[in-house]
Amino acid sequence: MPDESSESPKSTAEERYKGTPVSPGIVVGPLLFLYEDEHLVRKRRIRPEDVAGEITRFEAALLKTHQQIQAIRNQLASSIGEADASIFDAHILLLEDTSLIESVKEQLQSRLVNVEFAYEQVVRTFSRKMRELNDDYFRERAGDFIDVSRRVLRNLQGKVDAELRSLDTPSIVLAHDLAPSDTAGLDRKMVLGMVTEAGSRTSHTAIMARSLNMPAVVGLRGVLGKYEPGTEVLLDGYEGLLIINPSEQTKTDYGQREKQHHEVEVKLDALRETLAITVDQRRIIVSANIEVLEDLPLLKEHGAEGVGLLRTEYLFLNQDESPSEDQQVDMYVQMARASKPHHLIIRTLDIGGDKKRPHLGIEMEINPFLGYRGIRYSLGRPDLFRVQLRAICRASAEGNVRIMFPMVSDLGELKAARRILDEVREELRSQNVPQAEKIEVGVMIEVPSAALTADMLARHVDFFSVGSNDLIQYTLAIDRGNEKVAGLYQPAHPAVLRLLQTVVEAAHRNNIWIGVCGEMSADVVLIPALVGLGVDELSAGAASIPRIKRAIQAINYEEARQLVARCVLSESVEANQAELEQTARRLYPEIL
Ligand code: PEP
Ligand code: MG
Repeated sequence: MPDESSESPKSTAEERYKGTPVSPGIVVGPLLFLYEDEHLVRKRRIRPEDVAGEITRFEAALLKTHQQIQAIRNQLASSIGEADASIFDAHILLLEDTSLIESVKEQLQSRLVNVEFAYEQVVRTFSRKMRELNDDYFRERAGDFIDVSRRVLRNLQGKVDAELRSLDTPSIVLAHDLAPSDTAGLDRKMVLGMVTEAGSRTSHTAIMARSLNMPAVVGLRGVLGKYEPGTEVLLDGYEGLLIINPSEQTKTDYGQREKQHHEVEVKLDALRETLAITVDQRRIIVSANIEVLEDLPLLKEHGAEGVGLLRTEYLFLNQDESPSEDQQVDMYVQMARASKPHHLIIRTLDIGGDKKRPHLGIEMEINPFLGYRGIRYSLGRPDLFRVQLRAICRASAEGNVRIMFPMVSDLGELKAARRILDEVREELRSQNVPQAEKIEVGVMIEVPSAALTADMLARHVDFFSVGSNDLIQYTLAIDRGNEKVAGLYQPAHPAVLRLLQTVVEAAHRNNIWIGVCGEMSADVVLIPALVGLGVDELSAGAASIPRIKRAIQAINYEEARQLVARCVLSESVEANQAELEQTARRLYPEIL
């Protein structure tokens, strides 16, 4: 809650805060707070000459909110009828209330505060007055009023990504949470590191940070808004520490540590051109997960054997409209060329969950991760899906493109997706548009129902790729983005390992290969388990690749198989975790 009276305390004492490390590296820089949550509206002083700009932002947010409410209203009118939809007319009236708008403008001028703060204060006063009126109608409207004002605030705070994109001082960014769409387009030169209060190792912001090679810590509380913006901090992405006002001694110590890390990195760098082969000669492909064109140089830099997962949704998330077919072809072709002589696996749009953008038209959902997501969205939007499939097929003329469908939970969905793919291929053929003779098609195994019917799915695809991030969250019922339950997100749980065992067996019995493209692949403690399960490919953020190769080269496949055989029967996740950690410490202590 905002506190009008208190200003941030000024202190120069060193203080330490601990969170979950999600992306390694050490950086020092000024702290920058981003407030994107309506509960975290803070007061910021503005200059008289800034008032006009704040009013413009306010009007733009009102307009955007109007359009959003109108869109929901129209959708409801066609689905459940005019009568129910008309409650949104009341929302629009509240939004357009001239006395409220004038009060906000008056506050901006008289108090010289930022518009979020002024708006929130006015809304509070208005809703209190409405509740105090002895009238049921107005009391109910107070609830609507809060609802509308949240939308306006969120739209005002849409500035998060604008702010992220227009930083002028290299900073360490701290926010309650960052949406994948916020991180997708950020300026890597200006954002030295990221810290969030929310999130876990497999939340998309964490994945993005690793992909950007940017030190990051999540699940870190107690700092947001407590210090002056610009306070010097040190972020330790190895240990998950944020050190406020680091002393000279701390900085010197960290300088030493960085040197040690650097020495390990140099050794790992030497593995770039090597293959990942276990000591008893089992070969595993190690490829990269990428999101945007800027990731391409990382493939060669880190020795990736192609791309095991292109998350295409980021090509849609970092702009205000969906890319056209030609734009997509252009991007996929660039990616296919950079992946040669290896493959590029293009995953069709995995939108939904925490990955949303207004132009994709996904409504608010109570359980977005169980909602309109991945292949469900694509099958519901054949217009977008066909454009993407046409673009992928056109890019397949490069010769090394494969395609993969996300969030499949049932064979019927896979068949439906394949049918549309066949139609698109036929259409291109009839138009004489070049495409590859054969395109390998895969399916992501990331929903328990898909894992349990993997033998059926295997007969209809050329490969499997396990999305362990989602598979674990759905198997253990642990929201991957919720820091409160992050401790229960346990990849070494026997249930998870058993499911993986089922899937690997189903793949191999049907003579198809199986990879893992979730974050398990990048966790060197878990790699002995994945190797022992018999997976053929590991795909992870490019920066993790040298570590993955180092781990595989130290593992004995037969020993790893026995380790897995013990873990799937174990009654204790902790015992599994301990044995895996001990194995990793014995085999490659320097990269832990
Ligand atoms: C996964 O779920 O493991 C995966 C790779 O997909 P995403 O992280 O994009 O959901
Ligand atoms: Mg997934």
